[in-house]
Amino acid sequence: MHINDHTSTIEACRFCFMCRHVCTVGIVSGRESDTPRGRGLILSKIQKGYIAYDEDLVETVYRCCLCGMCETWCKAGCTPPTAALAARADIVAKGMAPERVRRIRENLVGTGNPFGLPPRDRFKAIAGGNGLPERADVLYYVGCDAAYRQPEVAGAFIKILRAAGIEFSLLADERSTGKALSILGYRDDARAAAESLVKKIRASACKVLVTTCPSSYDAFKSDYPAMGLDLSGIEILHASQYLDRLLSEKRIAPRRHLAAGATLLDGTYLGRHHGIFEEPRRVLATVLGSEHSEMIWSREMAHAAGEAGGVFQLLHPELSLGLAARVLDQAAQAGASVLAVTCPATKAALLAADRDGMQVRDIVELVADGL
Ligand code: SF4
Ligand code: SF4
Repeated sequence: MHINDHTSTIEACRFCFMCRHVCTVGIVSGRESDTPRGRGLILSKIQKGYIAYDEDLVETVYRCCLCGMCETWCKAGCTPPTAALAARADIVAKGMAPERVRRIRENLVGTGNPFGLPPRDRFKAIAGGNGLPERADVLYYVGCDAAYRQPEVAGAFIKILRAAGIEFSLLADERSTGKALSILGYRDDARAAAESLVKKIRASACKVLVTTCPSSYDAFKSDYPAMGLDLSGIEILHASQYLDRLLSEKRIAPRRHLAAGATLLDGTYLGRHHGIFEEPRRVLATVLGSEHSEMIWSREMAHAAGEAGGVFQLLHPELSLGLAARVLDQAAQAGASVLAVTCPATKAALLAADRDGMQVRDIVELVADGL
């Protein structure tokens, strides 16, 4: 069992309440089984053979949004999200994945995106997204959410690259990184997707790989090296880092500032996993012409809106709405009317909550607006 690699977390968590009050999903659902302690109890009993997975227990394993808030809070170094991922791999190996999980996997394997939309339409809705070269020093990896659900984010990034005079390319046959497949528990499929994408990236001969998608950034920076896949020699950047560089080098400059109060939502992958907190803040300060107002929960302690690989909202639309509502409440408490994000999937999840009086914009869009 894959969970045997996480026995220390499972055994510690099942006795411990210390992060229950910060668990992103547990707070919204009010279910003990959604917290690290509850899941630790379940996985411990499964590991010892006292109980076996059934429909309810499988569901519980897939309800963690992988935000990592518990890890940040934990003083014992425990890692509940990676234990949950191991449990998902066990569930997949037993052929017990829920039907909607299997459907998303079929979409990812068949069409290269979790929505099952035609691969030929991947860049169709992106302004300026067609007719680009397949080789240039800078490769923009768009990602599934910016390609299909938030094409305005991809269009805004392309507008900025053009304004800065950057020669860049897109992969004509871009597909998912495989991150979502590993999040769902399909490790072999995830590896196959990753190997295929690495070959395409290498074939593009790029020197810089930049993406507007934080989960793709995490895949390139963390997952691929862990799989032994080689992107060495290629600089990997999230769009917020690239914008920060373009602004500091004065290759782009805002002509006007945003005339509304804004706050910033830190992300799980960018912030908590990779410590990218300052670059989005410097970019947003340029957009505003001043500092933004911080939300009560920010930086390492930011509340997630369910960004995990772009699939959490597809798996749990109701829970995702609850997560989004909490973040939107915090943004309103910060006195903002614009909530800036650094992730197209997070933007889509927040927009689904449909909150009057709060604009949700990717910082890429905010920069493009000011050019
Ligand atoms: S992650 Fe740490 S704080 Fe949370 S339940 Fe486990 S041991 Fe306790
Ligand atoms: S990763 Fe987030 S949702 Fe999952 S148990 Fe930890 S705090 Fe809760």
